[in-house]
Amino acid sequence: MLEQTLILIKPDGLTKSLTGNILTRLSETKLEIIGAKMVRVSRELAVEHYGALKDEAFFEELISYIMGDYHKKKVMALVYGGEDAIQKVRAICGKTNPEEADSVSIRGAYGRITTKGVYENVIHASANEEDAEREIKLWFTPEDIIEDIYSTNKNEKNIKIKEWA
Ligand code: UDP
Ligand code: MG
Repeated sequence: MLEQTLILIKPDGLTKSLTGNILTRLSETKLEIIGAKMVRVSRELAVEHYGALKDEAFFEELISYIMGDYHKKKVMALVYGGEDAIQKVRAICGKTNPEEADSVSIRGAYGRITTKGVYENVIHASANEEDAEREIKLWFTPEDIIEDIYSTNKNEKNIKIKEWA
């Protein structure tokens, strides 16, 4: 199935200068990059992104981690598209826990568990189609993405700027 998926190179990935290595690994999927940008993550964005985990004991640490409190305060956000994009990217990322992830996966090769127990696993990838659509619409505007992947409304203030439907 033709899909899109949101990828974040997390603050630890950027601080460890892993951007090139991670993009090279992702290129093995032969998917296309259809959106890319650097983001300074606000608390609001972090909480919205990880909202489903708000009752977890590690939630506040996770918010600090993705905001870059322990590393550089930035993430690289990407949208990859193509056949079975979600599963292909998840497979190359490896399991959530970097100790359990296959050692040749991105998380297995570069992730670690902090002394506070947070999985610093260098990359986020959408888990399913529903999450992918929610996450892509959260991190990107329609104009940021070079293909028309979801329906849009015309913005009355400026017909050149679209907004998500
Ligand atoms: N996480 C963690 N401890 C856990 C589970 C998750 O530190 O026991 C962190 C980890 O950085 C993970 C993120 O929270 O990537 C989101 O968790 P999720 O279960 O959605 O895993 P993912 O979809 O990223 O594999
Ligand atoms: Mg997840």
